[in-house]
Amino acid sequence: MTDLTSMTIAEAKAGLANKSFTSLELTDAHLAAMEAARSLNAFVLETPDQARAMARAIDARIAKGEGGPLAGIPLGIKDLFATKGVRTTACSKILGNFVPPYESTVTSQLWRDGAVMLGKLNNDEFAMGSSNETSCFGPVVNPWRREGSNTTLVPGGSSGGSASAVAALLCMGATATDTGGSIRQPAAFTATVGVKPTYGRCSRWGIVAFASSLDQAGPMARTVRDSAILMRSMAGHDPKDTTSVDIGVPDYEAAIGKSVKGMKIGIPREYRLDGMPTEIEKLWSEGAAWLKAAGADLVEVSLPHTKYALPAYYIVAPAEASSNLARYDGVRYGLRVPGRSIGELYENTRAEGFGDEVRRRVMIGTYVLSAGYYDAYYLRAQKVRTLIKKDFEDCFAKGISAILTPATPSAAFGVGEKGGADPVEMYLNDIFTVTVNMAGLPGIAVPAGKDAQGLPLGLQLIGRPFDEETLFSLGEVVEQAAGRFTPQRWW
Ligand code: GLN
Repeated sequence: MTDLTSMTIAEAKAGLANKSFTSLELTDAHLAAMEAARSLNAFVLETPDQARAMARAIDARIAKGEGGPLAGIPLGIKDLFATKGVRTTACSKILGNFVPPYESTVTSQLWRDGAVMLGKLNNDEFAMGSSNETSCFGPVVNPWRREGSNTTLVPGGSSGGSASAVAALLCMGATATDTGGSIRQPAAFTATVGVKPTYGRCSRWGIVAFASSLDQAGPMARTVRDSAILMRSMAGHDPKDTTSVDIGVPDYEAAIGKSVKGMKIGIPREYRLDGMPTEIEKLWSEGAAWLKAAGADLVEVSLPHTKYALPAYYIVAPAEASSNLARYDGVRYGLRVPGRSIGELYENTRAEGFGDEVRRRVMIGTYVLSAGYYDAYYLRAQKVRTLIKKDFEDCFAKGISAILTPATPSAAFGVGEKGGADPVEMYLNDIFTVTVNMAGLPGIAVPAGKDAQGLPLGLQLIGRPFDEETLFSLGEVVEQAAGRFTPQRWW
């Protein structure tokens, strides 16, 4: 059955359509792969009964010629998406065994289009992290290893389960969310493709909130085409999310293979960091050369406020998180630790239910929003955010179609290697990705090469608002030139 798990979504769609196999067979093959890969800790909940029931139902629809664009395709769902009747925890102890009585808009659109749910995927607690080590279910293991080494590597975060499961062929694609890089960074660490859509493109309704002005759902898959296929089902206007934008959803797959001739691609000089590994520099120039060979014009551009993006993000994101997480009080959801008064119940529940990183963010957020500090921190960070957005607008006003950057400043690192003594060490991972969230823009991470130790590296393309199509066209050029990368199976 291994063949059934190594196919792309596009190939599986064709196989299902011409009746080479059924969705139930495809689903069973993935359930078996998941069972054999439990050591990766990618899934926090497997839903085999539901998966088989969904597969049988869709097989019946396919037989009647009904289907839908994702008919019969088995997917993994990040545990941040509310799934009706299926435990949803955001990988936090505080949500305990919370079972939502409703379905998130994004997942309901996937089921509408015929996809099959295999289970819920691990992530950093409340999506706060860059390594999936803050999850209450423990870290996820990256299926990639350094050549000749058994060191356990992180898959990145916060969508570490999504990345690991897609890379290890446990699901054909996955949902993920990106507040500061949580789709693109794990994609780069696992040689998968990750898309962070324009803010407002996918509904946030039914997704556990981290930082509402930055959060955006998007797909992870093994090819650019597959991510375009998933994206079409995930995107769309939703009156239940007031920040969702009412713009028609294009056929993203049609953008694959479109000529990029004459497009102006910006190379931001501020992304050339001191001490950046030469391998990343090399990958970046290689990517530029591939786009040039496809007929694009490469132009140096300036994004002068880049250096303020990370500090500003780590004020805005915790501020919104501290406010969003106020609802976890021991009264409404999940965990409750009693106390002698209601105040003590709140304190005990939150002290017991939140992990260290979440507590740190709640404290930072509360501090930067408090009277006397609001102007100095939060308000100033919001002003910086406007300047970062303007940097990009100035670039696009000069006719730039997209911006090419590395996706991460390094390849995957070891479990426990970063951030133990100094959390800022972990935050530095997000240096190339947070600007995109601060500006509300779309970004894609595409596998582009390997480092000297054989670990995958990714390139990022940043686009104009609601122009994901250009990112799919350019992303495919990179993918064609770089080839695809699959980890050796050892688990
Ligand atoms: N690593 C970033 C953080 O910890 C981004 C996380 C995300 O995008 N959800 O905040």
